[in-house]
Amino acid sequence: MTLLLADIARAGGLLDAVEEASGQNVFACYQCGKCTAGCPFSLGPQQVVRLLQLGEVEAALAHMTTWDCASCLTCATACPKGVSPTLIHRALRTLHASPAAQNGHGGERTNGAALDAPYRAHARPLRTYLFTNIHRLSRLGSAMAPLSNWALRVPGANLVAHGLLGIHRARSLPAFVRRTFPEWFRDHTPLGDGRRGPVALFHDTFMDFNFPGTGIAVTELFEKAGFRVELADMVCCGRPMISKGLVARASVQAETNVTRLWARAREGVPIVGCEPSCLLTLRDEYPAMVPANLRDKARVVAGQTFLIDEFLAPLAAKGDLDLTFRDSASGGPSVLFHGHCHQKASAAPAKSVELLRLAGYRAHMVDASCCGMAGAYGYEKEHYEASRAAGERALFPILRAHPDAEIAVMGTSCRQQVEHFTGRRTRHVVELLRAAVD
Ligand code: SF4
Ligand code: SF4
Repeated sequence: MTLLLADIARAGGLLDAVEEASGQNVFACYQCGKCTAGCPFSLGPQQVVRLLQLGEVEAALAHMTTWDCASCLTCATACPKGVSPTLIHRALRTLHASPAAQNGHGGERTNGAALDAPYRAHARPLRTYLFTNIHRLSRLGSAMAPLSNWALRVPGANLVAHGLLGIHRARSLPAFVRRTFPEWFRDHTPLGDGRRGPVALFHDTFMDFNFPGTGIAVTELFEKAGFRVELADMVCCGRPMISKGLVARASVQAETNVTRLWARAREGVPIVGCEPSCLLTLRDEYPAMVPANLRDKARVVAGQTFLIDEFLAPLAAKGDLDLTFRDSASGGPSVLFHGHCHQKASAAPAKSVELLRLAGYRAHMVDASCCGMAGAYGYEKEHYEASRAAGERALFPILRAHPDAEIAVMGTSCRQQVEHFTGRRTRHVVELLRAAVD
């Protein structure tokens, strides 16, 4: 349930509401400081938690970390006590979001000036509308390509986006493809006999409308390995709404997806995806987001949900992958793999490296935290420099030190960030695996 801070303040129990909304016990924190030390954006999650421990909830709400947090989960991954400052920041923002914003109209709460000041500084209704409706707008963008791509890149468009939407002028949105991935899928001839049964592909927005090569590669990998691919019956996962604090809207997406997917999940059909932030929303967020009558179904869906490397690596370990790679003796091209933050937090990026090595690449994990993009965060003009600085902490220098290595990623935001700031080409893990299949 979404609560308004002022209403709860009147009723008392402000801290309880933050703990309930975040699912966190702030008193589990013993102030070790690891979260703050590791934050790629140089924020102070430890301080926010401390303020809550002191009962100073309004000060926690007013703290810049609450509003500038990129939700990269690095602090949650680092915390030795299992506290997630990420979820605490999100709960604070959500508790303060207006009913209009929750309904997707981008409205803004205007009473309670002291509490509203930080919210006003970050509220950009048009930008929020753009990012939280990215699936719908991308569908339109693809239908209108190449006109839409021209419009995005016409001289001056970036300045309009900067001034009107708050999207940094140096950024550009990924181009739309005219022929979407679902259209390719509908028309393609399967490469295998499907003898090993179905997998449901959770085809994210970027796969559908911007990077169909990822979808084609994973489809062909599955088919060559003997699986029958079906496109999951789904809507946008809701992650864009969650990251903007519009949890009520995201819950509608969660209900729809759980309702549509659970029957296939109950039959044992794996639901597999390539975009960590989207796919892991099903597993990590849905069981707590849906109404009580859907919780069991949400758990069934979560139990059948896998990132592509989580699905393929165990098969490879059992010798049951059934793919022949061209050069399985190591000595192939050098690859640096950068794991996605959500993958690091609740999956296993090492599995991507295992698969790349199996496919003959000399693959290594990049020892770096967030790339700095964190969804749409790095696009926001007020966060652009922080986004660059986060990448420069470790990731970009490592990539520059290896100019001849291929760069493998799992997430679209990592892809956009690396290409923007280093000028290097990136490829999704499945594209490299597909390229190596005999
Ligand atoms: S890492 Fe965990 S225990 Fe340490 S200060 Fe941060 S929230 Fe508290
Ligand atoms: S989620 Fe990321 S950006 Fe936010 S406080 Fe934690 S480490 Fe920093």
